Amino acid sequence: MKSNNCKPDSTGYRCMTMSEPLHIVCPGCGAVNRIPAGKLGAAPKCGKCHQPVFRQQPLELTSASFQQHISRNDIPVVVDFWAPWCGPCKMMAPAFAQAAAQLEPDVRLAKLNTEAEQAIGANHGIRSIPTMVIFRNGQEVARQAGAMGTADIVRWVRANA
Ligand SMILES: [Zn+2]
Repeated sequence: MKSNNCKPDSTGYRCMTMSEPLHIVCPGCGAVNRIPAGKLGAAPKCGKCHQPVFRQQPLELTSASFQQHISRNDIPVVVDFWAPWCGPCKMMAPAFAQAAAQLEPDVRLAKLNTEAEQAIGANHGIRSIPTMVIFRNGQEVARQAGAMGTADIVRWVRANA
């Protein structure tokens, strides 16, 4: 897995030091928090709503919050595109939730209901569900279709995020 602290910018590829803050979007209120990389694992709270920034569970995205979360987080965001009528999606949901507990705070896990938010699924070319897509700085970097267990989800995310 690549370090969360390394990313390309206008001057080339650089790695931030531990003291430099990362931008983390609050799952509750959507505020962008600046959190030192070394403090991500210390149960940071949102500066605006004072709730935990990491809750060891996937965040439910909507059309109102989707872009904010995938483009403003400095950590990768994995989105599980699912729908209530999809049996394999429901089977995978507990595994995805357990994966969130294992992958946070290195990665943000989120869910997008493609039945409620059809335009977002269409915009991202989601042809079958469940499909997981990893975003970094708003750009898709990997996708995987089909239901997976917790260990396989964690392995795939760590290999591709
Ligand atoms: Zn908040």
